[in-house]
Amino acid sequence: MSLLSIEDLTVRFSSGGTTVTAVDGASLSVDANEVVGLVGESGCGKSTIARTAVGLHKAARGRVAFDGQVVSSLRGSGLRAYRRQVQYIFQDPLSSLSPRLTVGKAIAEVLDIHGIGRPSSRRARVLELLELVGLSATHADRMPSALSGGQRQRVAIARALAVEPRMLICDEPVSALDVSIRAQIINLFLDLQREFGLGLLFIGHDLGLIRRISDRVAVMYLGRVVEQGTAQAVFDQPHHPYTRALLAATPSADPAVERHRNTVLLKGELPSPSNIPTGCRFHTRCPAAMPTCATVEPLQRAVGPGQSGTVACHLDASAQPQQTLAS
Ligand code: SF4
Repeated sequence: MSLLSIEDLTVRFSSGGTTVTAVDGASLSVDANEVVGLVGESGCGKSTIARTAVGLHKAARGRVAFDGQVVSSLRGSGLRAYRRQVQYIFQDPLSSLSPRLTVGKAIAEVLDIHGIGRPSSRRARVLELLELVGLSATHADRMPSALSGGQRQRVAIARALAVEPRMLICDEPVSALDVSIRAQIINLFLDLQREFGLGLLFIGHDLGLIRRISDRVAVMYLGRVVEQGTAQAVFDQPHHPYTRALLAATPSADPAVERHRNTVLLKGELPSPSNIPTGCRFHTRCPAAMPTCATVEPLQRAVGPGQSGTVACHLDASAQPQQTLAS
């Protein structure tokens, strides 16, 4: 059973008489002690699916389950436990830190809200958490504005860890940071993930980074997961033309790989989520599109080693049965 299971999730936003389908029947799952990378162009719904999972947006359809329990059915203590167990790390740590609280008070506030530990032991626990994220006792009395971006993100991580979560959702947590300190924060996430056996859903644009840190990868296009599988399978043998195009557009640090990189770039812009193309939603940009692609929507089918991955594409589909996504 997956720790977090998102099934057939649809999220719509309405404004000025226009309805936008930001997530359209997307499914993915994250196990305990597993890193799942979620990739795709800006505006494809990555953050929306993650924010809906923690209740920041409302689902129009589908379900989110945590540890086998449907989240929308949780009330009272069950809902409070879910909110503790799944913590969200934002791209900009300032958005989760009050400018009026010192670092120590910001972390102690979380312990207070959730009634964790005795008030007399707050300070000691705050210092433990600071140490856990690579900060020291001297940081406890500083204001967030006196910290670097990397230090603020460490404080945000300490606040998340304060409630002893089982899962972190990291929404591009290093893209706002200096390139020089990104690796340190990534390594911190990975160390904590291993130490506490956390499930980690990591949203990112940097495919090289996603490949390095992920056990499994899900590729989103225009509100839907179009391919997922082990990181090795998705990156080494991508089945979906969109995944191939994303990889082709990603420069390699290895000159030998770079020389032979097949630069099949994406045609055109991402269509508007208020007007999703018929059939395969990628057909307006797909270099391999066939006539049937414009009218028939491809279902998910199993691919990859041990049929452990899925892809939604008509290419080679006749060789294998179609199926709905496993959670
Ligand atoms: Fe391309 Fe057709 Fe596959 Fe869609 S179903 S990705 S248009 S080949």
